[in-house]
Amino acid sequence: MQTGTSNRATRAASLGLAGVVLCLAVFSIVAAYTTQAQVDQTEQSASLADGYARAIAAIRAEEMSQLEYLLDPSPVHLAELAYANESMVSAIDVIVARGGPGDARLAMNVLSFHDQYLVATERLLGAVGAGDLAQARRINEVDADPLFHAMQVLLTAATQDRASEADAAFVALRSTGRWLLILAPIVFAIGFVLLLGLWRILEQYHSATRATYREIDQLSKLRAEFVSTVSHEFRTPLTGIQGFSEMMRDEELPADLMREYAGDINKDAQRLNRLINDMLDLDQLEAGQMKLRVGPVDLNGVLRDTAAQLASKGSRHRFELDLEEDLPKLSGDADRLTQVVTNLLSNAIKYSPGGGTIEVRTKAMDLTVRDHGIGIQPEHLEQIFQRYSRIETSATQNIQGTGLGLTIARQIVQLYGGKVWATSESGQGAVFHVQLPLDA
Ligand code: ADP
Repeated sequence: MQTGTSNRATRAASLGLAGVVLCLAVFSIVAAYTTQAQVDQTEQSASLADGYARAIAAIRAEEMSQLEYLLDPSPVHLAELAYANESMVSAIDVIVARGGPGDARLAMNVLSFHDQYLVATERLLGAVGAGDLAQARRINEVDADPLFHAMQVLLTAATQDRASEADAAFVALRSTGRWLLILAPIVFAIGFVLLLGLWRILEQYHSATRATYREIDQLSKLRAEFVSTVSHEFRTPLTGIQGFSEMMRDEELPADLMREYAGDINKDAQRLNRLINDMLDLDQLEAGQMKLRVGPVDLNGVLRDTAAQLASKGSRHRFELDLEEDLPKLSGDADRLTQVVTNLLSNAIKYSPGGGTIEVRTKAMDLTVRDHGIGIQPEHLEQIFQRYSRIETSATQNIQGTGLGLTIARQIVQLYGGKVWATSESGQGAVFHVQLPLDA
């Protein structure tokens, strides 16, 4: 169950981690791509606006050179005019190279006007050279000037368009930058918080795994101890049975000795029977298969009978019963309740090797069994209820047991919906408390 939860948590953590990394990657790629696209757009629009401005400057320079040549038709001015023509053509080439199809179309229009303008200029120069000033003025007014204005209008409009495009792209770039400044810390803070959460889930998973391993380790140690304890517990009565039966078979024994040995064999057989029953009971309880034969049970009666039975075995212990009169009858399984009470009372005897009083008390549905024996260290008060758990000390090393009794007792009490626990004050023996719900 715990492993299932842990596996789900690890899967969720891994998916979450992948999600965080993916989100950060997508955010970074989108941010980089948008910024790069806007920078490119700004650069392209700005450089086109610059190209158009240069083309305007070139046609103005061309017009100026033409005027200078008309005033002074020297070879120097002619060369300047030719240079201005080339500058204009190369400015148009730059626009074609950097711009899109719209720019190429516009450039072609300008170039065609420019070609016509060059033809008109040549005719103008020819008229001036022939001294026909009237014709020259006419060519200028009708042909050259309108062409020059058409080119200037086209180029000026395109320059303005490109300049406003560059401005718009720059504004968008600035706004992207501002958003990135706001979003980047938020996205990274969310990523960091998620990573922290994932780290905590994984930490919890690790500590749960460590706890499970510790539990398994402890259980396997207890199992190993249990096997050796149980072998010992089986061997002792078996040795007795074997020894006494051999004597009865091989020797001529008087009848009363024969009876005594038979009684010893019977006791050993009963001990074996108890041991096997305990193991089967625990098995059933842990598999959730133990059935209670429910009926009215007189708790005080069970206590009196069990105490009397144990006292009759010649123990050096004295039972002191303080039982509340008029205790309502329990609805439960008398045999199982007797099993719990027998375990507690016989443990009180077993673990008080020096003898002494064992106080048994009932108050409402609370039962306490107090002895004055070896007691239990505080750190072992819970451990003794774990299966196979025995506390190995010099005081307990000669006391027989398997570590099953209290585990079975607790599971039976829990079937009733009750609780059982132990307390112990150093040097004062142990107290076992059983709490059974009133409406059980
Ligand atoms: P077992 O007595 O067969 O070993 P139990 O489950 O009945 O098994 O008890 C588990 C352990 O709890 C015992 O081995 C013993 O160390 C401790 N214990 C139980 N009852 C007492 C008691 N009355 N006083 C001191 N120790 C006790």
